[in-house]
Order: sequence, then C-alpha cells, then structure tokens
Amino acid sequence: MSASLSYPDLLPLLGDAVEDIRGRLIPNQLLSAVTWFRVGGPAQLMFQPADEADLAVFMKALPEDVPVTVVGLGSNLLVRDGGIEGVVIRLPIRGFGQVEYLGGHKLRVGASVPDKKLAEEAAKTGTGGFAFYTGIPGAVGGALRMNAGAHGTETKDRVVNVNAVTRSGEILTLSNEEMGYAYRHSSASKDLIFTSAVFEGFAQSEDEIRAEMAEVVAHREKAQPIREKTGGSTFKNPEGNSAWKVVDAAGCRGLQIGGAKMSELHCNFMLNVADATAHDLEMLGETVRSEALAKTGTRLEWEIKRLGAFVDGAAIEPFLGKAD
Ligand SMILES: Cc1cc2nc3c(=O)[nH]c(=O)nc-3n(C[C@H](O)[C@H](O)[C@H](O)COP(=O)(O)OP(=O)(O)OC[C@H]3O[C@@H](n4cnc5c(N)ncnc54)[C@H](O)[C@@H]3O)c2cc1C
Repeated sequence: MSASLSYPDLLPLLGDAVEDIRGRLIPNQLLSAVTWFRVGGPAQLMFQPADEADLAVFMKALPEDVPVTVVGLGSNLLVRDGGIEGVVIRLPIRGFGQVEYLGGHKLRVGASVPDKKLAEEAAKTGTGGFAFYTGIPGAVGGALRMNAGAHGTETKDRVVNVNAVTRSGEILTLSNEEMGYAYRHSSASKDLIFTSAVFEGFAQSEDEIRAEMAEVVAHREKAQPIREKTGGSTFKNPEGNSAWKVVDAAGCRGLQIGGAKMSELHCNFMLNVADATAHDLEMLGETVRSEALAKTGTRLEWEIKRLGAFVDGAAIEPFLGKAD
C-alpha cells in the first residue's frame, strides 16, 4: 500500500463502545505529519484518548486481534511508507501533559510532557538530575520506552515508578526494576502504554541547573543537526565504541541514497534532505550496517525504531540477515 492509499475503516469493530469513548478517533491519519523524519504512510486508526480512564475503556473494547502501536513525538521513529495497520495511540497534551511537584525532589509527570519541559519544571523546583532532558526532543512516554539518556545520565537513573495501561485495559504501576532497563531499552511488555511516571532527582540550586541546561543546549547546537528532519542517533553505540566512529571508518559520512543522507556534521544521524521516502532512509541505514561490517568488522544495531508496513513490492530485507 502507498501513502496515497487508505486502510479499511476500523470503527465498526468497536461497536457500541464508540459511544463511551471521549477521545479523538482519526481514520487514516498520515504519520508523516507526526514524525521528525516527515515520512510514513497512514495509521489505519489513530486514537488520542481524553485521559487514562478513556484509554482503558478503549483498550477493553478493542477486539484482541487488532494490532496496537504507540507513538510519541516521533523523534526516534522511522514509519514505513505503507503505514501502520490497526490502531496507533498518540497521547495528547490535554489529559497526559500534567507535571506535579510531589515534594522531596519527586515529580509526577504525564507521558506526553516534552522532555525539555520536564527539565524546565525540575529546574524551577530546585530539583537536579534532569538537565540532560533539555537536549532530547521527545516526550516522557518515548523516554520511558527508550531509556533516553545523554551526558552520562539515563531515564532509568530518575524513574521511581511508571503507570501504564495494558492491551486488555487494566491500569498498573511498574517499579523501576520492572521496567527492565538496559542501554536505550526497556524490557517491559511491548503491549504497555505508559501514561505517567514518578521521577526523583536531588537538591541543586536553580542557577546551577540552568547553567547545566545551557551547556547541554550549546553542545547540541555545535555537534548535532538539530534543525533537520532526523531521527537522532541511527545506531546504538557498540560496546566500548561510538557508532559515529564506526560509520565514519566505514566511509559512510555523507553517504546519500535518494533523499536520505548520513549527516556530514554528526555521521550517526540520518537526514531526510530531499523528500526522502521511508524506503530511502531504511535502505541507507541497512547499507551503512553492511559497509560497517565489511570494513570494520562491527555489527551496528538500529537505535531508531522502524515501524509499519512496506509498500507492496518494496520490502527491505535486513542486509545482515537478522531483523532487530
Ligand atoms: C535531534 C535529535 C536528538 C536526539 N538526541 C537524543 C539523545 O541525546 N538521547 C536519546 O536517548 N535520544 C535522543 N534522540 C532520540 C529521541 O528523541 C528519544 O529516543 C526520545 O525518547 C523519543 O521520544 P518520542 O516521544 O519522540 O518517542 P517516539 O520516537 O515517538 O517513539 C519511540 C519509541 O517509544 C515508544 N513510545 C512512545 N511513547 C510511548 C508511550 N506513551 N508508551 C509506550 N511506548 C511509547 C514508541 O512505540 C517507540 O517504540 C534524539 C532525536 C533527535 C531527533
């Protein structure tokens, strides 16, 4: 299927339950509108719940065999040109955008709060340990799933517990341990939709925090193509090495396929420089992986999450054999 085609209407499957749902249901929402790369076909049905209870009602009503995918701000996503079959959940600011200071350097934060706002709110309360979020352009839900991190701190270092809605509509709370964190990864069930989390930092003066935040911003401005259509780091850093060094050593800095290019400034960032398709971007990423293995012996693994269906006849088999 191509971005110009659409999926069949899913709404009839929800039956009378539709009456009880307060959020927005949008059939065939183009996902290129919500990803940083500005690529991706339609979501068969996008749901933007009114709040956590509404999300739970929806999940209970949705037949078990309908696939569900969650997206955040789309800053780590490559959505394929064929779009995403089933329901795509996107948590809006209204209903999931609250930040509450709990005292004791703890904050309860909704999953659609941008990471940058979390850093800002923590600074206002003299809560240290959140300045790294200033440079990460996602929202809290994505940070919880990806264990987002920078400058030596990761999400796992700040999470106390996480609220989530299950595929069958139960609401549960997971501890930090139950999130199963590793480098850019959580092993919590893929079915879970994170709705909010409690974070804990430490006492620090607002001036010191703001100085750290300014350093983070200055570093990003210099070192990363932050105003481009990109998905951040394309590959995870291999053990004891940096992914950009491997990409560079493989001769792939500036490599271009169609409208997709490895950044000259930071060669682990892939860019959409000229109306790239998701196919161009994924083909470029797989080419870099293959060159890296051949020229440096290092196997790069994707950090960017690739979701959805290929357009008919344009599937890309992972060059290195294993889908990851
Ligand atoms: C310029 C740039 C710089 C970046 N720098 C960094 C960096 O320094 N460090 C870093 O770690 N990352 C970085 N990233 C990557 C990205 O910003 C982070 O991974 C971020 O946490 C993704 O959040 P998001 O809301 O955009 O999630 P998305 O990209 O929309 O989704 C990412 C994953 O999270 C899942 N997800 C999203 N919301 C939820 C939810 N509510 N419940 C369950 N699962 C959910 C999605 O299904 C998907 O698997 C950068 C990206 C860009 C474009």
